[in-house]
Amino acid sequence: MFGVWAPNEDVAKLAYFGLYALQHRGQESAGIAVSDGNRIVVHKEMGLVAQVFDEPALTALRGHIAVGHCRYSTTGASVWANAQPTFRSTGTMSLALGHNGNLINTRELAALLAGREPGSTGIAATSDTDVLTALFVSDPASPVETAAATVLPLAKGAYSLVFMDEQTLYAARDPHGFRPLVLGRLDTGWVVASETAALDIVGARFVREIEPGELVCIDGRGVRSRTFATARPSGCLFEYVYLARPDTTISGRGVHATRVAVGRQLAIEHPADADLVIPVPESGTPAAIGFAEASGIPFGQGLVKNSYVGRTFIQPSQTIRERGIKLKLNPLRDAIAGRRLVVVDDTIVRGTTQRALVAMLREAGAREVHVRVAAPPVSWPCFYGIDFATRAELIAGHLSPEEICASIGADTLGYVSLAGLIEATTLPEGRLCRACFDGQYPVPVGDDDRGKHVLDGLGVGS
Ligand code: SF4
Repeated sequence: MFGVWAPNEDVAKLAYFGLYALQHRGQESAGIAVSDGNRIVVHKEMGLVAQVFDEPALTALRGHIAVGHCRYSTTGASVWANAQPTFRSTGTMSLALGHNGNLINTRELAALLAGREPGSTGIAATSDTDVLTALFVSDPASPVETAAATVLPLAKGAYSLVFMDEQTLYAARDPHGFRPLVLGRLDTGWVVASETAALDIVGARFVREIEPGELVCIDGRGVRSRTFATARPSGCLFEYVYLARPDTTISGRGVHATRVAVGRQLAIEHPADADLVIPVPESGTPAAIGFAEASGIPFGQGLVKNSYVGRTFIQPSQTIRERGIKLKLNPLRDAIAGRRLVVVDDTIVRGTTQRALVAMLREAGAREVHVRVAAPPVSWPCFYGIDFATRAELIAGHLSPEEICASIGADTLGYVSLAGLIEATTLPEGRLCRACFDGQYPVPVGDDDRGKHVLDGLGVGS
């Protein structure tokens, strides 16, 4: 997610390159909305950023404010109507909005729309994001800033938002700050982005994080900030494990450094007698470096990744996921044959990747395969923006580490401890959400609000 306010820049191109840097956060659809001060134009399609936009499409997006988004679906199916930025127009004003996270009271919020005028989109969206967008414009007497400050305290769950009306760029973060959101400075403008790496790519300087419970408004008068809710920080621990880019910094801590430290911790907690440490590229690489450093076992490449295939975990269906594994990784036989391997992976979610991987390494001649995981067992679903789906689909939700080791066919299996992972972030334990590891949810989730399709059939979109 990316937003920019900059009168002297080609904001569509900045948004494009910002999204390009954030492609790993969502690969199902992409979109950019641009305002020239009078009118908002949105271009969005299913697909990767580079597939959705070409030079003519970007040239048609003229203005000085832009909001961009690449979607990874949680609430609401992966279809064009749910692509973002979402858009609502009331006739007197328009709003375009990008959302990173997932709301857990979407039905309750949708019910608030009854009897209000939610603006029009011309499409039938079924996402939590569209409901929020509709609520922001549903009181014709309320400017967007006032509406957002009134509506946001009613929303529960995870939301980092970047949105705009014709004149102003806004950014907001839920009181828990589940998902990251940062503010950056251009020479003559401002940028808001999901990760600091996106600031680097467009030449913006990091200013600060948007605080949990903060609403920021950016226009010709500069940056205004207001607090709409008391902050209760519990940032997503999984950002450090998997989601964020290694060259991003969250809460002052570099993601790469955290992952290397986790690898060192893993070597202390689960040593192995082996000849070579190899990563599952690329997200397992920093932890493998740390493991090799701490264990003294040489680090090497044993798997080649096809960089053009999407990260398998983030694909929307199991069928695509299973095919994705074989498309994605290929063993380096010369490096592997006859060797006892430590294979370092970032996480085990369903176990399908690791089962295929261990079999592939054995076929390539590995003598032993010791799997080491740079996260504790993922035993609980996430309702705050990561689609782990149900507990039944999580291998650690119903099998012990020993059973998982047997299930994936490894010689040994070791997970870093939760305490070890938290220590590697250098953040206080109380400031992190770790519900997918320990089942302690910072915001309780009702049964009615679980699942991707809570709004399907309710006819909320218009
Ligand atoms: S449940 Fe896990 S993935 Fe979800 S926000 Fe919490 S730590 Fe992150």
